[in-house]
Amino acid sequence: MAIATINPTTGETLKVFKPLEDGEIAAKVELAQQSFQEYRQTSFEERSQWLLQAANILEQEKADFAKIMTLEMGKTLKSAIAEVEKCALVCRYYAENAASFLADVTVKTDASHSFIKYQPLGVILAVMPWNFPFWQVFRFAAPALMAGNVGLLKHASNVPQCALAIEDIFHRAGFPKGVFQTLLIGATKVADLMADDRIKAATLTGSEPAGASLAVASGKQIKKTVLELGGSDPFIVLESADLELAVATAVTARMINNGQSCIAAKRFIIADQIADEFEKMLLAKFQTLKIGDPLADDTDIGPLATPDILQDLENQVKIAVENGAKVLTGGNALKDQPGNFYPPTIIIDIPVENPIAKEEFFGPVALLFRVRDINEAIKLANDIPFGLGASAWTNNEAEKNRLIQEIEAGAVFINGMVKSDPRLPFGGIKRSGYGRELSIQGIHEFVNIKTVWMR
Ligand code: NDP
Repeated sequence: MAIATINPTTGETLKVFKPLEDGEIAAKVELAQQSFQEYRQTSFEERSQWLLQAANILEQEKADFAKIMTLEMGKTLKSAIAEVEKCALVCRYYAENAASFLADVTVKTDASHSFIKYQPLGVILAVMPWNFPFWQVFRFAAPALMAGNVGLLKHASNVPQCALAIEDIFHRAGFPKGVFQTLLIGATKVADLMADDRIKAATLTGSEPAGASLAVASGKQIKKTVLELGGSDPFIVLESADLELAVATAVTARMINNGQSCIAAKRFIIADQIADEFEKMLLAKFQTLKIGDPLADDTDIGPLATPDILQDLENQVKIAVENGAKVLTGGNALKDQPGNFYPPTIIIDIPVENPIAKEEFFGPVALLFRVRDINEAIKLANDIPFGLGASAWTNNEAEKNRLIQEIEAGAVFINGMVKSDPRLPFGGIKRSGYGRELSIQGIHEFVNIKTVWMR
């Protein structure tokens, strides 16, 4: 895949980048290693100051950064601005909390003094996707750099300008040279990097095949990874739910980022008693969404990031229909205009046992299922290989408890949509990956949790 900016709204190639040569990659890895030796000696106060400065730059220049994202991957400008603001938030969060998260912890034992000490690991490789091209990177970098690690970013090949802008932010914020570098390289270079002794661990957000491939490469070297992969999150609505609020949230939860979010609600599992009403209300709302230029203020849905994503989504909908599903609205790419546009789509009557019902639809397509009761809802919610997030709607206390207890996912949101928050851990189970990002758990992923025992 070429490393290039191709505007998904027009299909126009705006800029092509030459991938780094092997010698250039080696030089950057060496610089990262050298800077780690010094950077690990810096204090939390110094790192905090730099990270707070990164937050300031993000806030001051959010319109410029947002525009780069929209041009490279098609998210609406307003959502891109919100993404930059969230990056500033995660920087501030770790600037303020890292020292306490990583403070020594005394544990009483037979020693005269025993305690836990958290130390940085070294150079961490981050393989990141295009869907939240700023957020995914800052979510990794803020805790990693506060812990004293240094970062190498291999960003998705379709967002090189985002990758370079992020490197520049850390540089201008004052972080020492080499503490955060972008590598403009293709995916085929990742396994070699994992075999390099100077790289100690890696994190990847993206597809299952990419995650599995990184896990194999790092497994061979016995190196730690954190994987945040796909999901097909259920959005369960039971009889006692506030239907107005559930439907309004369902639209946002499905359409976020033009439908391309790992934690977007993808399978709507609705109790029979309210299913007709839910379907009617959702359909009405989907049909009012405005699809178009993501730079325009009144656009709800922009293009999908790449022609491949569009093609994959079209194929999935086609397979669903061939297997008996019905399309209520949408269902065909908008071919009479340039760009990767796919309309808001609702699919009903998809056979639950068909493999297509268990796949992730990475675009604005909602799959609607009807269930008799909570037992059937939980069974269907869990009957997929993924386990990232789940949103469930009910006002019955016993049902809330069962949903929290029995849903197989890294997060359950009751009467709200799944979202990430710097204060709460984020990650999945099953084929959605392992490890956690954000919160105290996130900063503990890439540190040596050292036991110290003294007589
Ligand atoms: P990928 O998983 O292919 O890309 C994500 C990142 O992984 C990119 O930096 C990519 O580099 C890199 N990568 C790809 N293959 C490998 C590999 N074998 N070894 C190491 N790194 C690799 O996502 P796609 O863009 O192809 O999207 C396909 C599907 O992935 C989507 O339909 C969706 O299901 C899922 N996805 C999930 C995301 C999430 O947030 N969990 C985010 C994005 C996608 P390069 O760009 O150079 O190929």
